[in-house]
Amino acid sequence: MPLNLSTTSKITWCPGCPNSQILVAWRQTIESMVTTGSLKLENLVACVGIGCHGKISDYLNTNSFTALHGRVIPAMTGIKCANPDLTVIGMSGDGDSYDEGLEHLIHAVRRNSDVKLFIHDNQLFALTTGQASAASPKGFKSKSTPFGSIEEPFDAIPVLLEAGLTFAARTYAGDIAGTRRVMEAAIRHKGFSFVEIIQPCITFFDTRDYFKSRVFWREGLPAANPEEASKLSKKEGEKVPLGIFYNVEKPTFEEQLIGNH
Ligand code: SF4
Repeated sequence: MPLNLSTTSKITWCPGCPNSQILVAWRQTIESMVTTGSLKLENLVACVGIGCHGKISDYLNTNSFTALHGRVIPAMTGIKCANPDLTVIGMSGDGDSYDEGLEHLIHAVRRNSDVKLFIHDNQLFALTTGQASAASPKGFKSKSTPFGSIEEPFDAIPVLLEAGLTFAARTYAGDIAGTRRVMEAAIRHKGFSFVEIIQPCITFFDTRDYFKSRVFWREGLPAANPEEASKLSKKEGEKVPLGIFYNVEKPTFEEQLIGNH
């Protein structure tokens, strides 16, 4: 029987929001991996934080957990420690994990906890109607920065590589096939997988035209070391690279925890 992950929840994202494209990629990834036997649906736990991204768990019929603002990562790592057989996948936003929950993110990466995190990066707090986040560009005018943000934006991938990240990737919500490919690779990775999904917020900061003309896929294999991966992830002038920048295996937190007890 074909897998049906639909729910009856009404989609309440703004019409045309690229979160819907992430949902399609997410659904196709899960359906394909479950159908081919590489993922057990009963072992999947989808965790979300607070923000527009968080509604995604209402629209796909899997086990799920909604965490407090900025606390999706402790929920994920707790679930994984309690039952290492589970596949724990988290969705979060830039506000949820770069502002509110950054300390959790860095420590989970440092420990190489075997969980997967997909960031819906729309460069602002969207659910609260458009305030600047740590990912907003310098000069960004919003309700909280009416004269333009005076801060440099946070660039997560180089920081997390420095902290010990074992899988680093970036994709673009508008490229559903590409996002799906990266999602599957991230889920297959053993260790912490971090995927930044560029997701324009069409209501409060419509960057679709900006990114459509600037994103490109990096050719070739992931980098051999974190320094090189960091360089691969950086903008080339105005161009924004997508792809898997780093993918290495190291002992995970959970296997060391079990080995020691
Ligand atoms: Fe999408 Fe922005 Fe609307 Fe939230 S506010 S649903 S991110 S378009």
